Parts: sequence; structure tokens; C-alpha cells
Amino acid sequence: MELWDTHLHTSFSGDCEVSPSEMISAARERGLSGIIITDHLDWDYFKSPGMFDLDIPEYINTIGTLRKESQNTDFKIGMGIELGLQEHLSAKHEALLKEYDFDQVIGSIHQVDEMDPYYEDFYKGRDIYDAYEDYLSAAIVNLSLFPKIDTLGHLDYASRYGIRYFGKEKGALRYEDHRASIDKILMFLIESDICLEVNTGAFRSGMDEPNPSYRILSRYYEMGGRAITLGGDAHHTEHIALEFENVIKCLKEIGFKEYRIYRSRKPITLPL
Ligand SMILES: [Zn+2]
Ligand SMILES: [Zn+2]
Repeated sequence: MELWDTHLHTSFSGDCEVSPSEMISAARERGLSGIIITDHLDWDYFKSPGMFDLDIPEYINTIGTLRKESQNTDFKIGMGIELGLQEHLSAKHEALLKEYDFDQVIGSIHQVDEMDPYYEDFYKGRDIYDAYEDYLSAAIVNLSLFPKIDTLGHLDYASRYGIRYFGKEKGALRYEDHRASIDKILMFLIESDICLEVNTGAFRSGMDEPNPSYRILSRYYEMGGRAITLGGDAHHTEHIALEFENVIKCLKEIGFKEYRIYRSRKPITLPL
């Protein structure tokens, strides 16, 4: 099986200290066929301004060169990006994607009402239902404003950190509680041919399933969704392709037979 991890970070991201070359050698050692490096670009990150700005020319130069060098080897490197979507940034993101050629673009919601669900202040004083509903609404609004992404990153990202605040038992975002909003997102993805990302970064945050949950992945499949990407969301070498073998087994049980990678924004379907 040709196994790719298409969501991972390097020291170009404000929250990662591992150099691209260290990430690459670790991914090779992990036995992967390829990776797509997807460093953060979150313009207007309110909690810590500038933290997730990306030095785009330097990024293109470094990762672009590595990508080129890998063309004729048995380990392929793609240059992607993880865009932090916010309503007021859609025109800026559109211009960015016109100017630069990426392989794969992940669209992620990292901020809602100028707060990152990674931090407690997003949940403080808020009902759990409202917190998650606000997160999902932001996803719907941002997708409709800016659908030019290849895959939606970690759909229930807030759940990863909500369990820290509300406790693991009660804290997880459950499909049954947010059926209408989640269905709306899934339908939008299917109709727009945008992938649903299966993000295993959840496992390092104490969850025992990926983002989104298997329940949501099953619902996506039931609605006709087949397009998925696989990402470990590694910020450390040991998290590359985290839990991929187990997760792939569960995805197959749901019915999924293939996953996608993107090269120059064109989908390539690979068997699971
Ligand atoms: Zn993310
Ligand atoms: Zn990420």
C-alpha cells in the first residue's frame, strides 16, 4: 500500500520546532511513500498576533526545492499549506492561492469569535452545546465563503480541547447533538468535492479516535461521501502517521476503500 501523511508541520509553523529535513528523514524511516508538508498560515491570530504568520517566499523556496529534489526518488515530498479560515480573510486567501502553487490546501477553523478553541477562554462561561454549535457554524460560513480548499481539516477540532475543559465523558462533540450542522457541512463537502480530512492528531490529545469521530465519518459515508485525506498533524517526529494502521482498519470497516492525496491541486486516489 502506498501510504502518505498529508498533514504535517515543520519549523515554518509558529508551534513547531522540528526542521523540514528532520521531519522528512523521520517520515522516510516510518516507511511512508510520501508526505505533504502543510505549515500553518493563520493571518490575524488574535491570541498571539503574528504567531502563525508564514514567511511565504522562504517557505516556497525551501519546501519547493525539497519537493523538486524528491521528484526522482522513491520518497515524494509535496508542498501544501494549512490555512486558518476566517470570514474576513477569504479574498486574501484567494489571492494567495492565485499567486503560489501548492500541492494540497487544507482549510481549518482555528478561531471563532477571535478565540482559538485550543484555549480555555473559548469554553469559559459558555454552554457546551453553544460552544460546539458556534464552532460548527463558523465552519459552515467559512466553507461557503471560501470553498477553494482541497480538504477540511479536523472537522471537530474543538472536541479535542473541549474534553479537557468539560471532561472526557461529557465533553466530546457528539454527532447526535449537532446533527443538523454536521450534516450541512458534510453535504457541502460532498457537493463541492472537498475532502473530509481524517486527522489523527486527536490521539495525542487524549482522544481515542480521530477528528472527526468515527460516528461522523460513518455519517459522511452514509451520505455518499467517499473523498478523504489522511493526516497525522505532526508537530513532532514521533507523531508522523500517528495510529494510521488502526485508523485505516476502522475506515475500511465503515466502507472506505480509498483516500486522496493532491499534487498541484489535482486529486490522486490511492487504495486504503
Ligand atoms: Zn489545524
Ligand atoms: Zn495542523
